[in-house]
Amino acid sequence: MSRQDAVARASDYFDRGAFRADLARRVALPTESQTGTSLDALRAYLTGEIIPNVERLGFTWRIVENPVPGYGPFLIAERHEADGLPTVLTYGHGDVVFGQAEGWRAGLAPWTLVEEGERWYGRGTADNKGQHTINLAALEQVIAARGGKLGFNCKLLLEMGEEAGSPGLRAIAEQERAALAADVLIGSDGPRLSAARPTVFLGSRGAFNFELEVDLREGGHHSGNWGGVLANAGTLLAHAITTLVDAKGRILVEGLKPTEIPAAVRAALADITVEQNPGDPAIDPAWGEPGLTPAEKIFGWNTLEVLAFKTGAPEAPANAVPPKAKATLQLRFVVGTDPETIIPLVRAALDAHGFPQVSVKPSRMATFAATRVDPTDPWVEWALASIKATTGKTPALLPNLGGSLPNDVFALILGMPTIWVPHSYPSCSQHAPNEHLLAPVAREALQLMAGLFYDLGEDGSRIVKARAA
Ligand SMILES: [Zn+2]
Repeated sequence: MSRQDAVARASDYFDRGAFRADLARRVALPTESQTGTSLDALRAYLTGEIIPNVERLGFTWRIVENPVPGYGPFLIAERHEADGLPTVLTYGHGDVVFGQAEGWRAGLAPWTLVEEGERWYGRGTADNKGQHTINLAALEQVIAARGGKLGFNCKLLLEMGEEAGSPGLRAIAEQERAALAADVLIGSDGPRLSAARPTVFLGSRGAFNFELEVDLREGGHHSGNWGGVLANAGTLLAHAITTLVDAKGRILVEGLKPTEIPAAVRAALADITVEQNPGDPAIDPAWGEPGLTPAEKIFGWNTLEVLAFKTGAPEAPANAVPPKAKATLQLRFVVGTDPETIIPLVRAALDAHGFPQVSVKPSRMATFAATRVDPTDPWVEWALASIKATTGKTPALLPNLGGSLPNDVFALILGMPTIWVPHSYPSCSQHAPNEHLLAPVAREALQLMAGLFYDLGEDGSRIVKARAA
């Protein structure tokens, strides 16, 4: 009954092929959530895989139907060990993006786990079946190592619609607030900073998409006969965009960017190098906010991207003054930017520069809020120390992911600190053909999660008390 024993059991679970077998079975279930036609597979993943697994670990469970019709159910499970112990909520998603079977390399297929050297290919190996399989297995090894105990209470929320934008997740969190209440979230999704370096991230950037549109008149008019006396919608829209973001990608509107990077965030980012791997595009050093490192630009700042821009008919240009133009822009933002203010700020900037003809409205894409635990939170320090004790490596600490995930559900609706320990890596091809998990990363992840859950049983109560004080 020791920490070493828990970590050794986790290694053994990998080494004897049990992890591979569990993951292969789960990958074989085509749990695509974006099709809207895979409800049986989504439910089967819970009833056939996850429920038997958590029952073995002593959880009680219930399936909660999605309040949004046509989307997969949720699993809420709980292992109550004793009153007065700290409670951990963990999260995963059993759905995957489209299989995209035609796009995979010869010899590979989305619903079959194929091992090639260190790479284990298959849809969901990285996002997210491999990751929550690792965490459930780590819990199981700790229970075995502690003679049937964890030393904390554990709750699980598994959703089956994350890749479809988590429909119903926020409503379930509101409705099941008491059932999901916990002292901390420890979850795994997304990539490590690099394959070799264990990573902890504490939240995510937010994302808000909006559309700019110029609609001056019906139909195009001959550019020879009318050009020079009719306003050009494309020209107007291009200039309107330059009042928001300059030619170097720098945001020009106060309020659409942070006023500063907090000292603790800056300190964490000082240790982060944005890796350039083979196949990655080269970073443009002069692009973005001047004076920031690449890590500060991605993880500590806001970016405004022009995602799409259309005027006239680009595929068959006509000699005409285009009457209409439309662009979709996206603001990725860190904590401190309120998404409710984005449209009014853009409107005010356009008006101030004389572009009343340019309309602005939110896109239909879901808005993600920005969340970030304070990097000096006791849970953060504890998690980093635990991972270092297991792996001998200093983990990378990202105050938030550059991308977005529904962390606002845990941080804002459920109001708990959020510690994410990702088990994938940047080149895993998640969401594309040839998705894969790296076997050595999975093995190390099993070990460090076993260590983390073991340490939680030792240190959890102390940290909960320290935070309360
Ligand atoms: Zn995903």
